[in-house]
Amino acid sequence: MKIARIQTTPLALAFNEPYHWAGRVDHAAAVVLVEVETDDGLVGIGESVAGFPAEGTVAALQGVAPLFEDQPVFDVERLITGARHLGSFNHTPWHANFVLGGLEMALWDILGKAVGWPIYRLLGGAVRDEVDYFGFVQGDTTEELTEDARDLAEAGYAVIYLKVGRGEDADLRNTAAVREAIGGRRLRLDPNCAWSVPEAIHMIGKLRKFEPEWIEQPTPLSSIAALRQVKEAVRVPIAADQAVFTPADVYEICRQRAADVIVLSPHEAGGLLAFGKAAAIAEAAGVPICLHGQGVSGITDAAQHHLGLRTANLTEGNQIMHQLLVEDLVTAPDLTPVQGKIGLLDRPGLGIELDRDAVHRAAELYRRGSTRLKKVGP
Ligand SMILES: [Mg+2]
Repeated sequence: MKIARIQTTPLALAFNEPYHWAGRVDHAAAVVLVEVETDDGLVGIGESVAGFPAEGTVAALQGVAPLFEDQPVFDVERLITGARHLGSFNHTPWHANFVLGGLEMALWDILGKAVGWPIYRLLGGAVRDEVDYFGFVQGDTTEELTEDARDLAEAGYAVIYLKVGRGEDADLRNTAAVREAIGGRRLRLDPNCAWSVPEAIHMIGKLRKFEPEWIEQPTPLSSIAALRQVKEAVRVPIAADQAVFTPADVYEICRQRAADVIVLSPHEAGGLLAFGKAAAIAEAAGVPICLHGQGVSGITDAAQHHLGLRTANLTEGNQIMHQLLVEDLVTAPDLTPVQGKIGLLDRPGLGIELDRDAVHRAAELYRRGSTRLKKVGP
């Protein structure tokens, strides 16, 4: 069974409400739908994380397509590794991972469909019957955040996740209110790289009284040294997120003991196989892995769920993102957590059905919005 063609469609996924985090406010996420067709008519679905503008991701996928066409679809490792070593990708390894993550996802979807098995079974089998997800608090004002946190707690989420890094007064006010709203549930705080080392040490000292389970990526993007300095100075567990992308980053974080937990997505790692390698490195160091979410649809959330089912050193309270969208691209199965959990997906491949009308609308939104990014997202 050989790869016949690769189709790419840039999509804008509109958020239900403005998505507030330390970096900015987002109104939509940009992804690229990847559809890989084989010579015997099977179609695999994947999703590459792009960000606005998505044309670079589309061009990169189309650029590597000739390396995949007419090749055996089962040669996932060889094909993806070969593409990753292309000259332009050698200079932009993170970009390569975000691009190739969606393409590799589509290959796994085909493999699962070809043999009639869900992806997690092809990747070693489930080590748990369900994956636990966090309740992601949304809103701008303290009142909005508090109300949403209360709803998520009532819906049964055991872990509640709140963005901070929005200024000291707002952070203390929001965290106090959310802590009160969720009672004794586990609370994670994520400033998304907003703080310098001294700011992080100061803020974590102030936030400690609200008993956060961990503080996620307090310090700048990709600095393992800054993360380690903060971890050694505070008495709250520290999670690495934007300091860790590749399996090599995971090794370095573990070697330097720079974080208590690693937050990682298959797009960051460079695919489902690469995520497994990264998780294995962390497992050997005794460090748990938490699924990370960029702005994505249920396509990626389903792929991540397969990883969650098969990853031994997975935390509870993992991240999903499709629930933040005006409409998801997936019609079935229902990927809404029940009491914070989603069970086994037993259909072949990713096990999802695409909503073609929703895909069409997202493609149209991208076409209309891409020339005026401020209207749809940065
Ligand atoms: Mg994060």
